[in-house]
Amino acid sequence: MKQVSETTTKENMYSQMGISSPVFSFCEKINNSLSDRFHEIDQIAEINQLKVIKAMQDNQVSEACLLGTTGYGYNDLGRDTLEKVYASVFHTEDALVRPQITCGTHALALALMSNTRPGDEILSPVGKPYDTLEEVIGIRESKGSLKEYGVSYSQVDLLPDGNFDFDGIKKAINERTKIITIQRSKGYLTRPTLSVERIGELIAFVKNIKPEVICMVDNCYGEFVETIEPGDVGADMTVGSLIKNPGGGLAPIGGYIAGTKECVENAAFRLTSPGLGKEVGASLGILNDFYHGLFLAPTVTASALKGAIFAANIYGKFGFPVIPDANEDRFDIIQAVQFGTPEGVISFCKGIQAAAPVDSYVTPEPWAMPGYDSDVIMAAGAFVSGSSIELSADGPIKPPYVVYFQGGLTWEHAKFGIMKTVQSLIDDGVLDLSACSSL
Ligand SMILES: *Cc1c(COP(=O)(O)O)cnc(C)c1O
Repeated sequence: MKQVSETTTKENMYSQMGISSPVFSFCEKINNSLSDRFHEIDQIAEINQLKVIKAMQDNQVSEACLLGTTGYGYNDLGRDTLEKVYASVFHTEDALVRPQITCGTHALALALMSNTRPGDEILSPVGKPYDTLEEVIGIRESKGSLKEYGVSYSQVDLLPDGNFDFDGIKKAINERTKIITIQRSKGYLTRPTLSVERIGELIAFVKNIKPEVICMVDNCYGEFVETIEPGDVGADMTVGSLIKNPGGGLAPIGGYIAGTKECVENAAFRLTSPGLGKEVGASLGILNDFYHGLFLAPTVTASALKGAIFAANIYGKFGFPVIPDANEDRFDIIQAVQFGTPEGVISFCKGIQAAAPVDSYVTPEPWAMPGYDSDVIMAAGAFVSGSSIELSADGPIKPPYVVYFQGGLTWEHAKFGIMKTVQSLIDDGVLDLSACSSL
């Protein structure tokens, strides 16, 4: 009896939130089928939670570390300790973790620009990098690009089956090759995301040809999805954004570079100034959020992963191509759904927006976002503006009209958001309600 009344109450609550009865029943059925998958995710979160606590304990994080400095920021105990904690978590010699690194693109640009000199070449052996990096590298003309500074770029695409083109990579490595840049996540592409293990194979192959080459991994969206990180498989730099996974939803800004002493030192001299490096850079009042967010990051990432798997299972059942598919292993928190029409992408984003705790009443629209080569629609009602560890969706308005969905600080919110997308697609006539009830 109790079970029945609870279900009724939950269904009523969803009904008040605009979810119709057939959508509710369908989504509950999918949810109930995923308990084994969710259990596996919880196991990974448990290991990663302990990893983070251990790093904090081993580096003696104290109450004093949560305070900040102003001005030059000399002897900033909290900042310096946080960087040791990141180095411990990512198993690297050192790390640079700063609010002065404004976003993921900035962290990646910093890592690349500080570790190359004129005449060097950067090689991407995993195809085209993330859109915003095209301007950093100079694939698309931009002021201040690496190309302007005489750093060239070459690229080897993945093979059609998603494997590395080892022959092509071997041919592309030359005496100028200084950095190999490896993007873990698919970003705005439909290629598979790379597991840390596969990244390790690639690094081993490349180092076998040229041991001194620097291997950098764009780790955006990948942190804490697995129990190992790129530093565990030989990456010289692991780079990411704090308004994605490792910020745990609490970091309001920031990026990190975890890597070898030399790579991190180069980055620090570029971020601040030659001669100053890591010694300056006041943390202001931000450190508590950085520590607190990192502490929550393993379970927040797990919530986002559950949402992605839930979405894959729902949209896979409706017959839309989903990447990764419903049963695949996961190496990042992004879920792509290919709608094939702009309307599908737009309705989906409207649903995510309508589920948000902030700005739920606004309607997202496509716009020409800086750094992207087509209009992009973004849905997010986030506590931290633009944070994509919070429930969010975005998609470039160009064929094959794929929406990329990610985040969810809690699994319950991620679930509700996906349910709202289904409802939105039905309400907009993009999806047929009978497709839902007949399943
Ligand atoms: C988000 C992302 C970036 C850029 O990060 P921003 O914080 O948006 O500048 C780079 N690479 C990948 C794979 C990303 O997902």
